[in-house]
Amino acid sequence: MTAATDQNEQKQMLGHPVGLFYLFFAELWERFSFYGMRALLTLYMIDVIFEALAERDFATAAVYASYGSLVYASTVIGGKVSDQILGMRNSIFLGGILMSIGHFVLAVENDIAFFLALSFIIVGNGFFKPNISTFVGTLYPKGDPKKDSGFTIFYMGINIGGWVAPLLCGWLAAEYGWHYGFGLAGIGMLTGLIFFWSGIKKNVFGDRGLPPNDEVLDKKVMGIKQGILVPLLAVLSAPVIAYLLSSYKSLGAEGTFFEDQNIVNVIFKLIGLAVVAYLAYIMYKATLDERKKLIVAVLITFFMTIFWGFHELSGSVITLFAARNIDLDGIMTAAQTNSLNSMFIIILAIPISLMWTWLSKRKWNPRTPYKFGLGLVFAGISFYVLAISGASANENGLVPFAYLLLMYFLLSVGELFMSPVGLSKITDLSPLRIIAFMMGVWFLSSAFAFQIVGFIGKQLAIESTDKNVGGFDTLEVYTGGFDLIAKYALGAGLIVLVASPLIKRLMGKVH
Ligand code: GLN
Repeated sequence: MTAATDQNEQKQMLGHPVGLFYLFFAELWERFSFYGMRALLTLYMIDVIFEALAERDFATAAVYASYGSLVYASTVIGGKVSDQILGMRNSIFLGGILMSIGHFVLAVENDIAFFLALSFIIVGNGFFKPNISTFVGTLYPKGDPKKDSGFTIFYMGINIGGWVAPLLCGWLAAEYGWHYGFGLAGIGMLTGLIFFWSGIKKNVFGDRGLPPNDEVLDKKVMGIKQGILVPLLAVLSAPVIAYLLSSYKSLGAEGTFFEDQNIVNVIFKLIGLAVVAYLAYIMYKATLDERKKLIVAVLITFFMTIFWGFHELSGSVITLFAARNIDLDGIMTAAQTNSLNSMFIIILAIPISLMWTWLSKRKWNPRTPYKFGLGLVFAGISFYVLAISGASANENGLVPFAYLLLMYFLLSVGELFMSPVGLSKITDLSPLRIIAFMMGVWFLSSAFAFQIVGFIGKQLAIESTDKNVGGFDTLEVYTGGFDLIAKYALGAGLIVLVASPLIKRLMGKVH
């Protein structure tokens, strides 16, 4: 059946295939669980897991970084296994089940359970996240102009989850205890799976997302059917990852970005080198025109890594800053501040995409490198707002909430200048034969960003025997750090803007 006739057969809703709305709700609830848990993670480590350590900030920053790196790096494997063996539907189910296990295990207050839970979420996300995103793309015939708005709707689903979850999980954690907050995240994930399952029952996806062929699941490797072997290996990998993650537990020494010899970081540096070497090889083999576009694809992925490296501080250093140095009295808890980024994305996504259309009609729509440069400049200004907030501190070293609100507003504008734009450019700039690989590299940018987050988090770690630190001492550490981050982000943004005319030339016809 051709894509066009198949498209006609798909039921439509609001001008989109009805399957989009099932994927929308499935992803909304998956992100609900992901961000609900993320809102609590740093504070839970400080208050419970590493409570007895004077270097609890340092250890928390390190675990947060390895968790974040692995949770995004696993998507590369999950995407590949789905393409070759499981198919998207099975992968989404497997991923969702593993993530719910992770969230429920997290509800148990115990160190071993904690690291095991993170590992289940890492493996589960690897199967869920890339496949649900690709699934959205398959609902539309190639070149369908509706696809972009389909992705915008999907991005809204992500952020509705990211907005509501920290508010609810944060409230439950504060009122009733950590495990209620984590438990709700688990229930959210199960709800997502029910939505996905009901879409399959109602046959809204046609024959999309099935394994690549009928025999692949029954094919035996080492005497075991692949359809059983993959979930088995996924489950068995969790304790191994848990072991690697928990090796941070005894880590107290001051590390630097390059000297830290923790095994997860070492693995990341090796993967990074391998990816760079492989990209160099691909570019060497490519035609001149392909090479030019690939250089741009690599550059925008690199700029995105820098941006996420600052942006993803929201779940770690900025949450701690909120807990210790922002006057949140009567407004929200520190965990709940994690909802602000998603809230602004929901408010701004449509106006900004309308702005691009409006500018396009007048031929003023800036080309991708300019948007990326501006996105980094916005990130820089947003951190500058936090850097100067110290001047308005009250006698307890607490700064007004408005600074945090303004900061997240600016950061979210920057995100919308980069993330959705970059996602669609990657597909335009990659030669068809390596599109999936380039998508993997794009997701790896988030993984590497967490190494930057970890580095900054460790630099700004406060060593103290009192876990309720705060006041002017921490204020000075944080605002000093934000000032430096602002300078780096602004500097990077300006360099990108200056280099933009050159990058633009390499892009050829791609906007
Ligand atoms: N907020 C987006 C999401 O959850 C992107 C996060 C990222 O790639 N670092 O999908």
